[in-house]
Amino acid sequence: MPPRKATHQQTKQHNRDLVLKTIFSHESISRAEIARVTKLTRATVSDMVANLVDEGLVEEIGYGESIGGKAPILLSLVADARYLVGLNLAQDKFIGSVVNLLGEIKETVEFPVDESDGEQALQLIYKILDQLTESEWKPIVGIGIGTPGLVNTREGVVVNAVNLDWQDLPLARLLETRYSLPITVLNDSQATAIGEFVYGDGHHSEDNLIVVTVKHGIGAGILINGSLFQGDGGGAGEIGHVVVQENGTLCRCGKHGCLETVASARAVVQRVADLASEYSNSELANSPQNISLDAIEDAWGENDPLAQKVIFDAAFALGKSIAHLVGALNIQKIVLTGDMVRFGESWLRTVQEAMSDAALTRIAQDTQIEIGKLEFRGCILGASAFMLLKDYSLLFTQD
Ligand SMILES: [Zn+2]
Repeated sequence: MPPRKATHQQTKQHNRDLVLKTIFSHESISRAEIARVTKLTRATVSDMVANLVDEGLVEEIGYGESIGGKAPILLSLVADARYLVGLNLAQDKFIGSVVNLLGEIKETVEFPVDESDGEQALQLIYKILDQLTESEWKPIVGIGIGTPGLVNTREGVVVNAVNLDWQDLPLARLLETRYSLPITVLNDSQATAIGEFVYGDGHHSEDNLIVVTVKHGIGAGILINGSLFQGDGGGAGEIGHVVVQENGTLCRCGKHGCLETVASARAVVQRVADLASEYSNSELANSPQNISLDAIEDAWGENDPLAQKVIFDAAFALGKSIAHLVGALNIQKIVLTGDMVRFGESWLRTVQEAMSDAALTRIAQDTQIEIGKLEFRGCILGASAFMLLKDYSLLFTQD
């Protein structure tokens, strides 16, 4: 079948998206530069810009440097022209924020969550979104959700989230019905990866990046040429439930010895408790009732032998798993984020060394692992940015 010719309206929409996307990805830019980048004519660019200024999305912010002749007028996105809502369905609490077009968080609401009750968890999402959609920040043009578990983003369905007791939950449809807004549902590690990519330091639109989130669970988000790679079933980057120890500890997914049973924040607390009786010289062993991630961090700072054993084991297992990602993808920049980054430089160094030992030397030596910049905000910002980057038409007023 021959391709259908684009209608005039479709071409116009496409050109508007293109111009807006170009302005969005530059701090400031002139009309001439937009024409050069987009390969649209100067006249078309001027038309599109005039419409965007009318809609309040773009403004003139002054003059750029002249390269002979008149100094060009610079354009910039109006950060507060539209708002998005991002949600991070974290392990022990749900956090939601209103975010502007530059990823600045305007308002945040959070509530503790009872992990095991799926219906209650859903009610809590409604409670957060009711509050945020009725806040002073208007207009809100979409809601992005980062949730643990396996997600079918295209259908907006949470296929399986063990800790929240959700199976095949049509989350996007439920929320669309209630709020009449476009909804995007993403795996939380994937959302975090987008957040770090868009709002972290020094990434360019065509870069590759892996972001590994290490908290109660472990997952990676993979960006290839600046786009999220989700795999055929949405589960790309699910390294947390790959077995790394034969006959290891029972995991919440039903398998034994998953990476999460060694390297996650939950596993570290559990292992310290399990091994306490073998470490009578450890501070932690003296007060087993107080074993928590904070207590382990303190002990780690004082070179406690039990804390060292468990944290180095965790870092080592994580590094080896990352080596598999490096071997498969040869992506040279890897960012770590989540609760475990609190263990700092020597934890990070162990992860890097374990990766280097396990991967091909020539590939590993060009691979850098570093700590992310955004903490819990990464998931919120990524969930909201994803829908924007996917669909710039969200920003246009519907007429
Ligand atoms: Zn598992």
